[in-house]
Amino acid sequence: MDLPQTSPAAPEGPAIRRVKHELMRRTLTVAAVTRLTPAMIRLRLTGDDLASFASASPDDHIKIFVPGPDGEPVGRDYTPRAFDTARRELVVDVADHAAGPAAAWARAAKAGDEVTIGGPRGSAVIEGPVERWVLVADETALPAMGRRIEELAPGTPVVSIGAVTGPGEEQTFTTEAALDARWIHRPAAASADPAPLLAALADVELTPATFVWAAAEADVARAVRRMLIEERGHPRSWIKAAGYWAKGRADGAVKSIGD
Ligand SMILES: Cc1cc2nc3c(=O)[nH]c(=O)nc-3n(C[C@H](O)[C@H](O)[C@H](O)COP(=O)(O)OP(=O)(O)OC[C@H]3O[C@@H](n4cnc5c(N)ncnc54)[C@H](O)[C@@H]3O)c2cc1C
Repeated sequence: MDLPQTSPAAPEGPAIRRVKHELMRRTLTVAAVTRLTPAMIRLRLTGDDLASFASASPDDHIKIFVPGPDGEPVGRDYTPRAFDTARRELVVDVADHAAGPAAAWARAAKAGDEVTIGGPRGSAVIEGPVERWVLVADETALPAMGRRIEELAPGTPVVSIGAVTGPGEEQTFTTEAALDARWIHRPAAASADPAPLLAALADVELTPATFVWAAAEADVARAVRRMLIEERGHPRSWIKAAGYWAKGRADGAVKSIGD
């Protein structure tokens, strides 16, 4: 039997190209609101301001400004799930959780509403040599995970592990990459519990030159990174972990989890 051909992971990790974008605010109009799944709201935004929109990496984020608890605007981070500058269109998927102003705004959004966005400020483009990807995401990171899977070169091996509340929340990604899509189910109340994702990761082979990208609730992402380093011996420079939200904390992102 042929063993998979891998080369040793460069200790310094893959090359990462940093791209800066002109920071500007854009005023957009909600063109359509649909439910991608029962708990995922898909917003199609349009506006001429999108002519110059740029997003070079699937895990970029924009700020969406929504009315905060005291009526003043607050910014929350969202992934440009898809965009088409020629058609002046931007797609954002918002996880419908119970508690925050951004989720409340998305639930109430309707065609014709205006919204202001800022960014992306910059992109960190992972350029390789990555031979294989392992992607770990909760609901908030499914947009970034889906975009990454769709943008991978044909045939690229990728294992994705998505944590959702049940089969109805699983998403389908269209890609020519060699995708092994795995889903785990846990109740929304357990979305800050690392155990289900850690158990799913235990079954994933980690060959050299495998880049592991994980984004979820901050403690979950931290636990995933620790397990990869301490139990699996995966090099730090081949892991990117981000807290996309923090339990009990508004706007609690930890964009890059380190030691
Ligand atoms: C780089 C980046 C990209 C992101 N992309 C997306 C994206 O594309 N789609 C998306 O849905 N989210 C995304 N997020 C996560 C999103 O920014 C947070 O979930 C944000 O806190 C939501 O704002 P809010 O106003 O609804 O809640 P907040 O006011 O921030 O929080 C209010 C309360 O709700 C809790 N809370 C926040 N989010 C969740 C959640 N998902 N589930 C359960 N409880 C929660 C908080 O702990 C807090 O107690 C991204 C985050 C980052 C850092």
